[in-house]
Amino acid sequence: MDFAEQLKSSVDIVKTIGEYVRLKRVGSSPRYVGLCPFHSEKTPSFSVHSGHQFYKCFGCGAGGDVFKFVMEIERISFFEALKLLAERNGVAMPKREYSDPDSKLRGALMDMHEIAARAFQANLNGPAGAEARNYLHARNVPSEQVAEFGLGLSEASGQQLVRQFDSRFSPEQLDQSGLVMKRQEGSGYFDRFRGRLMFPIHNESGKVIAFGGRALRSGDEPKYLNSPETPLYRKSYVLYNLHRAKDSIRKSEYSVLVEGYMDVIGVYSAGIHNVVASCGTALTNTQVRALKRHAERIVVNFDPDAAGANAAERSIQMLLDENFQIRVLELEQELDPDEYVKQAGAEAYRGKLETAPAYFHWLADRARKKFDMRTVEGRIQGFKFVAPAIQRISDRLERFAVGNDVAHYLGVDERLVREHFSKGSVPRETPPPQPGAPLEERLLLKSLIASEEARVQAIPQLRKVAALDRYGTKNIFKALFSMHDDALPFRFADLEGRLSEADRDLLSAVVFADDRIGEETAIQVALDCLRKLEAVEPQSEVAALRAQIKAAESGGNLQEAMRLTAEFVRKASIGSTSRK
Ligand SMILES: [Zn+2]
Repeated sequence: MDFAEQLKSSVDIVKTIGEYVRLKRVGSSPRYVGLCPFHSEKTPSFSVHSGHQFYKCFGCGAGGDVFKFVMEIERISFFEALKLLAERNGVAMPKREYSDPDSKLRGALMDMHEIAARAFQANLNGPAGAEARNYLHARNVPSEQVAEFGLGLSEASGQQLVRQFDSRFSPEQLDQSGLVMKRQEGSGYFDRFRGRLMFPIHNESGKVIAFGGRALRSGDEPKYLNSPETPLYRKSYVLYNLHRAKDSIRKSEYSVLVEGYMDVIGVYSAGIHNVVASCGTALTNTQVRALKRHAERIVVNFDPDAAGANAAERSIQMLLDENFQIRVLELEQELDPDEYVKQAGAEAYRGKLETAPAYFHWLADRARKKFDMRTVEGRIQGFKFVAPAIQRISDRLERFAVGNDVAHYLGVDERLVREHFSKGSVPRETPPPQPGAPLEERLLLKSLIASEEARVQAIPQLRKVAALDRYGTKNIFKALFSMHDDALPFRFADLEGRLSEADRDLLSAVVFADDRIGEETAIQVALDCLRKLEAVEPQSEVAALRAQIKAAESGGNLQEAMRLTAEFVRKASIGSTSRK
């Protein structure tokens, strides 16, 4: 067994994927389902099989083993996925170099960020950190939070990181790090961040991948300086604090979205741990989806100024598109979340969170202030102000329900609502996974996969049965037969490896279909199926085609189904003319 195999056998795919996706077990079966992290959906079509250790999405087709999942969700290479899983599961990785240049570069950049984070923290705790410590003290940031969030201070000289990186990293690695910059005149580098309060930014697995730096003296511009985009850091993918917040988001079933680093730290130190921030921009689609993996309810608490309101507006549009249940929290006296917690206390903020109005009521309240609600025209204008947002709700029933609710709230005739929403957008729901193949095929295939003894007893006879050729799953059977010939121990991944993509999809659908076959019953089931198959009269070609079309359709292989249908029509029409 090579290292990858060894690691894979010691890692549980359900536990690993469960850290990114809320999975629910289907009864007592080995199947777990959840919302797909790779495409937008409302009903779960993403399945994980604990027995065979693979996942499959019946909506977008994503699928594979635990390495593939980690590679796709973390957007990293195979070697990085190995390293990440090994670290997370306490398995020692054999000493070896990263083999592809991209992984090697990202590995070096990770090391540089680790070095920088440690250096910044040491600066803050050292003699040069007095001013920054005073600033944090003045803003009431307790020292536990300073440590927990890894806050630091970049040295004013601009040479600290350059010196530490000097002999260890190549010029290309320095150029790509975002931590140091080339001098415009002469040679050499200087540190990007100088004399700033440093906030490390982590990816979802908790590694430092970027920094935000806040100016400490008024007049220092810009107030916030962030890492540029690097091979490690893509702004639009990362939410500040998500790696710390995600457990709490799941437990409380909602997240709190604020604007800045200090807001996150302020709210977090009040004991509200399910708080995240987009790093200084309006939310992106990718960030919204990352949140949705953990909970679909959210409270948006942006700054009360105009910029905050605009950012809130755009973020909310993005959240509506992903079917979030949104509430909006506006704090009185123009306070931002951090200031509010400091002034009014944690309990008061918690109360505010709990009573924050649903987005549509909040919007309707804004309409009430904007238009004259004493007149019919004013109320209709108010409704029309809210309507475009309601229109974005993709589920038709929900759209009507919210529309009615808002109409009531504003005192508008419900007929207006019906007129307005009768031609809504098309709901985007994914159909539940199809069983993939008829019951008898599924049972036979599953029993052979489940039991060595079933394979030993049934395969020699099965391969002589001509009727097996009618099965849409015949290529999977053939692969099973050839594995049996090779006399290697059966492994699900090997079977998958011998199949075309379409057959792999079919196999996933069969495996995830809810028929229960235990190891004990497998032999009996296999032999029963075998007997039935042997008893089948050789069917006419047309009937056989019909069965194949059905199998191709239910397996989602539409091209094959169309090709077979054309053949079927040709053969069926020849048959009927010759019968006349
Ligand atoms: Zn999907």
